[in-house]
Amino acid sequence: MKKVKGLYVHVPFCERKCGYCSFYSVMKNNSSVSEWLEALEHEAERYSKDGRISLSTIYIGGGTPTVLSLSEWERLNEIIRRNFDTSSVIEATSEANPNSLTSEHISFLKDNDFTRISLGVQSMDDSELKILGRIHNSETAENAMRLVKSSGLNLSCDLIFGIPSQTLRTWNKSLRRVMEYASHISCYQLTLEPEVPMYPRYGKDDLNNAGYKFYRYAQYMLPRNGFEQYEISNFAPPGHECRHNLAYWNHSDVIALGASAVSYIDGVRYANPRTLEEYISGVEAAKEELTPRESAVELAVLSLRTKWGVSRANLLPEIEEAILKMPPDLFMITPERIALTQRGMRLGNSIWCELIGL
Ligand code: SF4
Repeated sequence: MKKVKGLYVHVPFCERKCGYCSFYSVMKNNSSVSEWLEALEHEAERYSKDGRISLSTIYIGGGTPTVLSLSEWERLNEIIRRNFDTSSVIEATSEANPNSLTSEHISFLKDNDFTRISLGVQSMDDSELKILGRIHNSETAENAMRLVKSSGLNLSCDLIFGIPSQTLRTWNKSLRRVMEYASHISCYQLTLEPEVPMYPRYGKDDLNNAGYKFYRYAQYMLPRNGFEQYEISNFAPPGHECRHNLAYWNHSDVIALGASAVSYIDGVRYANPRTLEEYISGVEAAKEELTPRESAVELAVLSLRTKWGVSRANLLPEIEEAILKMPPDLFMITPERIALTQRGMRLGNSIWCELIGL
């Protein structure tokens, strides 16, 4: 039986579109969910036709998986368990939003061997949540965090920095409140693509520059409270790293199901059609075979995102040379490995541009 590291399922439904979001999702309606589940079942069956593949991790993301009702969750879970061997799964995560997560969802996830919930908190300041166009407020977020923590499931929280009007005081408040409940925190810089609703008002602001001090503060504050920075955007006490995402950064195989999901299997990338209509009507995934060189560049960039960095034995000579020419305070270099320093992590985007352009 072939061992595949991870399974990702993209749930393409949300309650309402947030002002900054460029992920693929549509408003939920019951008939589109049932057509989506049918298409998902066909896709899963294509993977299981030569025998069930054994999984190490499962990640249900989106969109908003918690807009699915319990009966829709049962069907989704059944599709996964029937088509894949889940007996060796070490981590199973569902994303959730504070507004739609219920105690019934939590019981269902626990009863079906899920181990983790990743909650889209984004901020614990109500005016920032309003600017972002989020449907929840800080009280709803706190209730949801409390519910997950008391269930015994591991909780990861997403936070956004660089929000217009955000101050270090409000950022500190958001970090401190989620630290009370979470064992994993992801911090993302607000970025606005031209098509999102927030773009006309804030798109011209220099958000990256505005976000720098918040990121720097998270790098200072979270490790002092036991949350080590193990990846550019991710912080956790040792042993609580997200195993599923580690598979992406190690370039391991990940099967991804659903509209707009992208699989990576044996060095080949399969990009599913982006829209739900195309996905339901059976449009095939676009296949992209990476050359050994492209694969090596990608692996270097992905591994450098993590605190473990990249093995020098796997580095293309031109990449190693380019790294050695960059300012030395960006990298920790040993005879075996190269990893980013804290400053290097802050300037990650400029480093990727240099390396990818080679
Ligand atoms: S809930 Fe998440 S996926 Fe849905 S619109 Fe908001 S940010 Fe995007």
